[in-house]
Amino acid sequence: MANETIKRDVVIIGSGPAGLTAAIYSARASLKPLLIDAPVDHVKQTAPGGQLMITTDVENYPGFADGIQGPDLMMEFRKQAERFGTEFMEAWIREVDLSERPFQLYTDSGTISTETLIIATGASAKWLGIPGEAKVPDGFGGNGVSACATCDGPLPAFRKKVLVVVGGGDTAMEEATFLTRYAAKVYVVHRRDKQRASKIMQEKAFRNEKIEFIWNTRVEEILGTPEEGVTGVRLRKPNGEDYVFDCAGVFVAIGHKPNTGLFKGQLEMDDVGYLKTSGHSTATNIPGVFACGDVQDSVYRQAVTAAGTGCMSAIDAERYLDHLPVAMPSGDEVTIEGEHVTPDHKAIITPDGHMIPNAPGVTVGED
Ligand code: NDP
Repeated sequence: MANETIKRDVVIIGSGPAGLTAAIYSARASLKPLLIDAPVDHVKQTAPGGQLMITTDVENYPGFADGIQGPDLMMEFRKQAERFGTEFMEAWIREVDLSERPFQLYTDSGTISTETLIIATGASAKWLGIPGEAKVPDGFGGNGVSACATCDGPLPAFRKKVLVVVGGGDTAMEEATFLTRYAAKVYVVHRRDKQRASKIMQEKAFRNEKIEFIWNTRVEEILGTPEEGVTGVRLRKPNGEDYVFDCAGVFVAIGHKPNTGLFKGQLEMDDVGYLKTSGHSTATNIPGVFACGDVQDSVYRQAVTAAGTGCMSAIDAERYLDHLPVAMPSGDEVTIEGEHVTPDHKAIITPDGHMIPNAPGVTVGED
């Protein structure tokens, strides 16, 4: 795609459960969706398939009584989307212009123009923002600090070593449990004396003899040397006293933030950056732009709910397209409701003859 413009009715950004479900539904509706994947990038934590690609056992996705591995599940989603004709493209989108339809997406190699946009860009791991956590060479990120046990846990640097997991949610319990396959011991450092992880995940971790908990404690700094990588953490007790705890690796598991930077200033978001959708739909504040999955869900954040909203957004996009004016052989543009669009596109004439503006700020007179 050398600086060409691709035109589509439906473009989906993101290939996690939400994006791929939107693709399955819109491809089956013969809308020929184009799904844009971010290329694999370890630093930006992007990988086609989304967060399930870095998960192990998925035990709660309906339809898999014996559980399934995250990457295997995503492979099935993808095959199903391909089967109905979804077109896939790997590209970094540098900028989007949602000010008018068709919407424009600018990548390094060209422009994509689309009548509807389904945003399924998901969420990325959050960081503590403490000294020593940044990527090499500024800290030990990639040299003993990670936010993905499944990706990095099996590395030789962590085998038979003492590791620290930070957090008290399901992610922290899952990461800690997974790391016990390789580590000598895993210490979960949590800032409170209560977890927010689900009961079943907590119990699994409590039962694991290789896991111990350090409660009411914050990690203040990650310590180490460029040669050895991480050698310890500086922990702070509730009384404010600091001490050094020796370990060979730190896995930060304190939740996720939505990937919405691309849409700042154009789409409505909450204080954290989750896209706002209206009522029982996936509609954003811009007609024709829909959001599904973790990028708009700060409450449920499950693969199955992401897939559910992906389905909703495909149906929403299909209905939206159905109601757009279609050019008639006569040159007229007519909607499914029998509305006529004026040649200058400034007004719509309703079936009962009323004239209404076709864009914000346009004033039209009755005929
Ligand atoms: P959560 O928001 O549930 O938990 C984040 C944890 O990190 C909390 O314990 C929080 O502490 C702690 N934390 C947050 N910020 C900081 C900080 N700056 N310093 C220290 N600690 C901090 O996120 P999760 O990623 O764990 O889970 C998100 C969702 O994904 C949940 O709905 C969960 O059920 C789901 N999930 C399900 C899995 C499964 O079923 N297999 C696996 C993983 C996630 P505090 O409690 O004090 O706020």
